[in-house]
Parts: sequence; structure tokens; C-alpha cells
Amino acid sequence: MSKADTLLLFGATGDLAQRMLLPSLGALHAEGLLDPGLRIYGTARSAMSDQEYRNFARAALEKYLPAERRGPIADFLNCLHYQPLDVTAPEAFGELAERIGERCSRLAIFLSTAPSLFETTIDGLAAAGLACDGARIGLEKPLGLDLASSREINDAVARAFPEGRIFRIDHYLGKETVQNLLALRFANAMFEPLWNAQAIEHVQITVAETVGLESRAEFYDQTGALRDMVQNHMLQLLALVAMEPPASFEAEAVRDEKVKVLRALRPLGAGESVTGQYRGGAVGGKIVPGYDEELERGSDTETFVALKAHVDNWRWKGVPFYLRTGKRLHERVTEILVQFRPVPHSIFDARTRPNKLLIGIQPQENITLSLMAKVPGLDREGIALREVPLEIAMPDAFSGTVRRIAYERLLLDLLDGDPKLFVRRDEVEAQWAWIDAIRAQWAGEGLTPKAYAAGGWGPNAAIALVERDGVSWHE
Ligand code: NAP
Repeated sequence: MSKADTLLLFGATGDLAQRMLLPSLGALHAEGLLDPGLRIYGTARSAMSDQEYRNFARAALEKYLPAERRGPIADFLNCLHYQPLDVTAPEAFGELAERIGERCSRLAIFLSTAPSLFETTIDGLAAAGLACDGARIGLEKPLGLDLASSREINDAVARAFPEGRIFRIDHYLGKETVQNLLALRFANAMFEPLWNAQAIEHVQITVAETVGLESRAEFYDQTGALRDMVQNHMLQLLALVAMEPPASFEAEAVRDEKVKVLRALRPLGAGESVTGQYRGGAVGGKIVPGYDEELERGSDTETFVALKAHVDNWRWKGVPFYLRTGKRLHERVTEILVQFRPVPHSIFDARTRPNKLLIGIQPQENITLSLMAKVPGLDREGIALREVPLEIAMPDAFSGTVRRIAYERLLLDLLDGDPKLFVRRDEVEAQWAWIDAIRAQWAGEGLTPKAYAAGGWGPNAAIALVERDGVSWHE
């Protein structure tokens, strides 16, 4: 696939475009990483001239991109153009196609609109001849609300674009530490022999947010934590932790291994999931209202979920993967904890703690391996041991490297045509199949979310879920 020289951005006036996409493009431009001839066409329904859209983009960059990363904004703004378009009016695509003209064969399209508009947008693009050879398309999440609706979107996009030119975005894959998981596992000899059920007792994956509903109340209420976080980001993290070593770093080799893990996820048993919904409380010393108060009505949507998952294969036999995510929790943190087993036989009277590997993804990017070490001294009363961290703080280890927005990497890969960090159709569908079974189980059992106070770590039942196995959540 040749490099794109034109980017067509749908939803160009939306929240994601303002906070992430335009700032990412501006930052890439400032570093000279965009093709000098790149033209960016923004489109949405709002009536705007090119100049008005440039003013809009300038405001977004000034608000969301740190000053030291902006570079000469005017040069970047000159790449921007705007075409008003209602995607539900197919005839409107003709004018857009005229503007894009010959550039179609090196076109990158990015759909940052509600997924309910994807199908009409794709049909409109195809009818206007904009799904031409060489064009590629990026799709924002969520890709549907369940397996059936996801298949519908996947079928619609497959009618116009081959799979190799479909880039399904999971922005977690654009994060540096997430990619570093692959480096950690497959560029070091020391982890792989231990990376299995013989040495690992369990894995925890936590994605905790302190925010509540913010501006996307209706969207969130129709979605819930399971579909908003677990279906995509958390299952991708799980797949990267659990996958077999791929034969190469090529997109298909990596994605083949991820999909095997996703297909090996065992359907959850009774009592292996807990859901919650926050009530009023205090987060970071600030009093915050409950979910139902923010929504101004009652709802059965879960804002918290904790699961005990199993990957049914040789490597992970008997190793639980505990996942939890929620809103209005105590702290904003995304991390993976790999808990190793205790030494088979301890020669010390002193207590030893099993090793653990903690991979921090946000807000801190760091990797910490906890080891047992001797406390210095003459040991007249026996040897004293203490757990000490072997720590790599990524920003320190690589000082001078820029901390990037995840979308910078993904936009650049979309423009370059490298699909490695994008999700393939079979992965998305395997993810949905597992999630749909959980929702069916909840519906069958009449499970409703348990209340939890904002500012804590979710309902008590989530603690009990792991305590039954003698495990505590890492906090
Ligand atoms: P948003 O703020 O509601 O923006 C939607 C965009 O779509 C606007 O530019 C809107 O502009 C345009 N639009 C709406 N109806 C249209 C139509 N009929 N024809 C053409 N354009 C239309 O949404 P967002 O938050 O940016 O999210 C965009 C996508 O990213 C969604 O799929 C969302 O789920 C996903 N996402 C968002 C975030 C986030 O943090 N915001 C995070 C992850 C994923 P006009 O009103 O001018 O038409």
C-alpha cells in the first residue's frame, strides 16, 4: 500500500477531532513526520469555509497540544480544507469526490462519527467512487453494540474495502507501554520460559477512571462498562499478555496470535462476574453525585465490572485473568499485574513474597519487577528479607523521547498503510462473541449492578470475587 497523500476526516468538528485527532496531526506536522504534500479534508454537517475550519483547528491545537509541540501552526493549518457534508444525504458525496479528484488512489479515510453513520458513509463513499484502489479506511470504536451489529458494520465496510485496507482503531494499541508489552515479552529471553501456568499464578488488568459520565451520558448509558472498556481495550491487553510468540512482527503474524487467545476465552461461569453502579461520594476530596443523579433518572447500566476470565489453552491452564474497570473509582490508573507463584521450597525462616511484575500504562508508564532481597546486616537474629522493586520508569529511561498522544502513532500508521496496531475483523468478532455471552448470562440471572460509593474501588463483591481465590486486587 502506498503512503497516503490525502486524509479525509469524517466527524471533523467532533470532540475526538478537537481533543485528539487535530492535535495529533499538528504535532506530527511540527516534527516533519507528515508527507509535505499531505492534504487534510475535514467534513461534518456544520457549514464552514476552509478558513473557518482552520480557525477551529487552531483553537483545538492551542487548547489541547502543549505549546512546545505545536511548531509553526500556520503551516499545518494550510494543509487543512473543509467540505460540509451530511452523510445521510448520498448526493452530497459528489462534491466531495470532485474536490478529492485524482488523489483518491492515495486516500486515507477516518470515520470519527457515531458508528450508526458508518454504513451510510461507506455507501456514500463507494457510490461517489471514493472507495477506489489504494484508499484505506479507519473506523473509530465502538464497532457495534454486539456481535450482530458489529457484523453488520463489518459487512458494510467489506462491500467497499478489502480487509487489508480496513483499519479498526483501538487507541490503546497506540500507547507506547502497550506496544512495549511485546518488546518486554519477545525481546528478552528471561520472561518467556516463565510466562505460563507453571510460574504465573494469576494476572490482573485494571482500567480505573475517576471521571463520571462527562458529556457522553446517553451513549454511555446505552453501552456500560463491559462494552465500553472490556470488549475492546481490556481484551486487547489480555490478548497481548497471553498470546504465543508470533513468528514475525508482521501485522498478520501478530494478529493471528491475538485472535487465538480471544477465541480461547472460556465463557464465564456463574459467580465469575460482578457489576456495579456508582452512588454519590468523594473522589480526590471532591464531593461528586451518583450515576443516577448525573443521568437524572434511574438506570440498570453498569459503571463497574469485575471478571474472572480463563484462557483455555496449555499455556494458561488454571491461571485466572482478573479484569476490573469502572468509573468514579479511587484513582485513575491502567495497569497489568503479573503475579508469579511462590518459590517451591523456601530455605529462609523469613517470609518471602512471590515476585510480581507490574506494568503501568497510565498515568505513569513504568515497569516494576518486585524481587526479594536480603536486608543488609549481620543477621544475628536470622536473615531478614524485604521486597524491593526493580523499576524502569519509561520517561526516565528514555529521557528526551517525546510523550505522544496514542493517535499520533495510529494516524501515521493509517497514512503509511501499516495495519499492525489495528484490530482485524476476526478479533473484533471474537471479542463480541465472548462479551455477548456474558450479557446473556447477566440477563438470564437477572443480575443488576450493585451500588458502590464514588471514590472507592467498586462494590465489595468485587473484592470477594478475588478473595475467594486468596487474591487481593493490586492497589
Ligand atoms: P461528537 O463530538 O458527537 O462528534 C460527532 C461528529 O460527527 C461531529 O463532527 C458531527 O458534526 C459529525 N456528524 C454528526 N452527524 C453527522 C452527519 N449526519 N453527517 C456528517 N457528519 C455528522 O463525537 P466524538 O466524541 O467526536 O466521537 C466520534 C467517534 O469516536 C464516535 O464513534 C465515538 O464513539 C468515538 N470515540 C470518541 C471518544 C471521545 O473521547 N470523544 C473516545 C473514543 C471513541 P456536525 O454536528 O457538524 O455534523
